[in-house]
Amino acid sequence: MFDVIIIGLGCAGYTAAIYTARYKLTTLIVGAEDGGMGLTAAEVGNWPGIIDIKGPDLMENFKKHAMSFEEVTHKIAKVTEVEGNPSMSLRAGGKGKGFIITFENGETAEGKTVILATGSSKRKLGVPGEKEFSGKGVTYCATCDAFFYKGKDVAVIGGGDSAVEGAAIAAQVAKKVYLVHRRKEFRAEPYWVDRVNARDNVVFVLERNLQEILGEGKVTGIKLDQPLDPTNPGSDMIKVDGVFIEIGSIPSVELAQQLGCELDSRGFLKVTPDQHTNIPGVFAAGDNTNESNYFAQFTTAAGEGAVAANGVFNYLSTVGAEGYMSAGS
Ligand code: NAP
Repeated sequence: MFDVIIIGLGCAGYTAAIYTARYKLTTLIVGAEDGGMGLTAAEVGNWPGIIDIKGPDLMENFKKHAMSFEEVTHKIAKVTEVEGNPSMSLRAGGKGKGFIITFENGETAEGKTVILATGSSKRKLGVPGEKEFSGKGVTYCATCDAFFYKGKDVAVIGGGDSAVEGAAIAAQVAKKVYLVHRRKEFRAEPYWVDRVNARDNVVFVLERNLQEILGEGKVTGIKLDQPLDPTNPGSDMIKVDGVFIEIGSIPSVELAQQLGCELDSRGFLKVTPDQHTNIPGVFAAGDNTNESNYFAQFTTAAGEGAVAANGVFNYLSTVGAEGYMSAGS
């Protein structure tokens, strides 16, 4: 039985593992894919102490750091189920019961506590053609896929950091980038807005919504709800080879819901200042929580991971780490 099972191999999860290891807690860190949303950052310019690093390189450093501790066991596996362990009870006082984690292949692992660092998944737009051309020109990570559109025209949808960063990166390789945003103002950092403004191959398509993705076998264009040029009705169609949908993320809370964790009105996990959910022994950190003012950054995810590890340490100290024993003993 591990002291803590961390579910999620992203920034929050790996940071939590570094801290739990230094607290000498045996730690299993597990997830379906390594790296999390951090892999999608082409350029990270706001990780303090490093002026410029690629997201995948930063995540590789996180992993190496976490795995440098003998307390940490790393596993790539999809977790399909988390449940309170009915055969475990606490010898001394506390309310924790331990947890059983089930992987896709049916294997299980047991932990005294759990940190849910399950992050988020990209939001879908829900327009005609989106599903049909998914993977055939429609993708959800401009910075990951722009490279495949060298010399071609593409559209990026959204007005947050992901979209505007995506447009800036895509503009380095694509012939033309249409940045389609439903409002005039961008939500993105001015840093990224300046980066796209500095390019002469980015066309701002503002106060327009994407109505349909057009294609035949693969993407050939997009249809807007209003013409790009109001004097030219046909300009509601734009020829593009790729569409990058970057309209935000949805917190991944399915496992948390299996445990009965409480969500806020926006669907994020409610946590206390020590990252504890309403379920004793279940902590959460990163883009799936209502902490850090919903500001999803490497720095905030790492901060929440560290606090969650500290929360686990204090929790186990309070309930008595050795207090876990089988109900029959
Ligand atoms: P976001 O900040 O939630 O922005 C989503 C954008 O998509 C908004 O501009 C929104 O429009 C638009 N949008 C949402 N639903 C839409 C719909 N149905 N139709 C059309 N447009 C829609 O999401 P994000 O850009 O993915 O960023 C998520 C988090 O990651 C943020 O905390 C962000 O700071 C962080 N991030 C940071 C960096 C970085 O370089 N520091 C890079 C990437 C992401 P409105 O503006 O009108 O709401």
